[in-house]
Amino acid sequence: MTDYRRLRVALLGAGAVGSQVAGLLLEHSAELADRAGAELELAGIAVRDIDAPRDVDLPRELFTTDPEPLIVGSDIVIELMGGIEPARSLILHAINSGADVVTANKALLATHGPEIFEAAEQVGASVYYEAAAAGAIPIIRPLRDSLAGDRVRRIMGIVNGTTNYILDRMDAEGAEFDDVLAQAQQLGYAEADPTADIEGYDAAQKAAILASLAFHTAVPLDAVHREGIVGIDKAMMDAARNAGYVIKLLAVCERMSVDSETSPTGDAISVRVYPALVPRAHPLASVHGANNAVFVQAEAAGDLMFYGAGAGGIQTASAVLGDVVSAARRHIAGGVGVGESTRANLPVLPIAEVCTRYQITLEVDDLPGVLATVAGILSDGRVSIATVEQNILSGGEAAEAGQESGVARLVIGTHTARERDLSETVARLAESGVVERVVSVLRVEGN
Ligand code: NAP
Repeated sequence: MTDYRRLRVALLGAGAVGSQVAGLLLEHSAELADRAGAELELAGIAVRDIDAPRDVDLPRELFTTDPEPLIVGSDIVIELMGGIEPARSLILHAINSGADVVTANKALLATHGPEIFEAAEQVGASVYYEAAAAGAIPIIRPLRDSLAGDRVRRIMGIVNGTTNYILDRMDAEGAEFDDVLAQAQQLGYAEADPTADIEGYDAAQKAAILASLAFHTAVPLDAVHREGIVGIDKAMMDAARNAGYVIKLLAVCERMSVDSETSPTGDAISVRVYPALVPRAHPLASVHGANNAVFVQAEAAGDLMFYGAGAGGIQTASAVLGDVVSAARRHIAGGVGVGESTRANLPVLPIAEVCTRYQITLEVDDLPGVLATVAGILSDGRVSIATVEQNILSGGEAAEAGQESGVARLVIGTHTARERDLSETVARLAESGVVERVVSVLRVEGN
């Protein structure tokens, strides 16, 4: 066996991901040593409760409840505790003790990323976080390295498995949101408190991380526009299906051209998370169950799609171990780590300035001249109509919608419009006297 240099690896956290990482580090140690060019010695595992049940059998003597002494003298520190504190302080401690850091902590990177990257740059350390966005799917390294010579125009990601599972089942089975959510909780696809997933917080954290990398700009979490899937119901799903779409919760990161007053370079970005209509023929429409996918459009490379498991202990451990091998190789090669590239520093536009296509569903009085009135309001608001479909609601449908009979449903597809114009126009429609109800307004993404 080759006599490799030994690197000391500290693991913080042995939950769903950490226990699998520890198991694989121990089980595949010879193979990993050959790949890394260094022996990876698991020096210890810090947890809250040494006796807590684990998914993997691990030697008891490795466990400690005191992370600080474990960090000191380590070459690589793997943080898999989650949350902000003490993860943030321990990562800074690791960096300042001379270690490289591997983390899967999207919540921390989306809120304190610049502080952590700055600390690493100061001392020439590296921070690896392949597992922080879209779990097992290699997307951080492709954005950071493989596409470093290209210019990314757009990313559309399904980056939250729980919401994709819910929307996919609603689409496939015609089920209601609350019923699918309850089943998802029973099956372990959704947390007892599902807020972070269904309100889009988790996806927004990942969007901030992906946009920062893709556009070489530090994107703060509060610059990410966020809407969740709570308002999506069976009727909206049915209407989407009938129109050739599927509803997906998307993280959209986009570079756009703006005037020189908005950005001296003429470029700005938008980062947003919302449920959107995706054409059935688009590759993202075929992402089923709890899977994730990230669709990247780059100027030279064209369209790229990254697909796979966005979560899961063993799957995420794969991405973490890839980072550990990279960190070990860098340690052996020496030299300072490559810092985050944020020099483009592009302005992040508010949602009001974003341009996209929309589908507006209205219930209107079924009377002569109503369609012309609606078309006039849209045209006055600089919202151009691409398609209109009109259905007269049957007596039963009207009663179900809480309407008298004599009501028609209009489904209007627009050409690209500015969000501010669109929302002002929808408000005017609602007050026009001919619109009984604005049923839904959904963005359309993907051609
Ligand atoms: P988890 O199952 O909740 O495990 C957390 C681990 O950290 C536990 O072992 C816990 O100790 C330990 N811990 C928490 N607070 C601690 C403290 N103050 N001091 C010492 N130890 C502490 O979490 P996870 O699902 O493995 O997730 C870990 C990270 O990976 C998170 O940042 C998460 O966002 C990210 N991630 C997870 C997945 C996934 O599928 N689970 C996917 C992608 C990314 P005890 O065991 O003693 O309680």
